[in-house]
Amino acid sequence: MGYKKEEQYDDKVTSGLIENYRKTIELLGEDPEREGLQKTPERLAKAMQFLTQGYDMDASAVLNSAKFKEDIKDMVIVKDIELYSMCEHHILPFYGKAHIAYIPNGYITGLSKLARVVDIFSRRLQVQERLTDQILNCIKDALDPLGVAVVIEASHLCMMMRGVQKQNSVTTTSAFYGEFMKNTTRTEFLKLISSNLH
Ligand SMILES: [Zn+2]
Repeated sequence: MGYKKEEQYDDKVTSGLIENYRKTIELLGEDPEREGLQKTPERLAKAMQFLTQGYDMDASAVLNSAKFKEDIKDMVIVKDIELYSMCEHHILPFYGKAHIAYIPNGYITGLSKLARVVDIFSRRLQVQERLTDQILNCIKDALDPLGVAVVIEASHLCMMMRGVQKQNSVTTTSAFYGEFMKNTTRTEFLKLISSNLH
């Protein structure tokens, strides 16, 4: 599922957004006809549709498209998955890394598919807590594993650029299921990703 520019945009949505963003620019005290801003509403309209395209994508289908029968019961970990999303309270970006682990119960999935799942749930208006849960539940439902763990560390521009201006604060959220509810399993996972935790 590549990013196909031609198919990405709904004409009706694009023109509606263009109108709104032109008005927004005006309300912010700028001149939407100024050369540098003339094409901005259209660019922004397309960027926002790209950044929210996750609504139209089926994360479970992605996992099921590369689901293989495999009789292993060792922890599978994918660390440092790049993540870019937008907080639904300010529509400003938050970005960071996701770390995912699961313990198979008869089935494994392609490792790159886990990164796709992160993208699909990130490209929506989000809160980090819900994003963490949605990734966990998707893996749990699609693979029926013995356990799933998801940790997300992210910096929120709404905190860094405005308000409290805590430039270096990183928000960490986590969700655990099954085997990872056990202290020993969870500790092993956290130790394996801990070089990345702040
Ligand atoms: Zn925010």
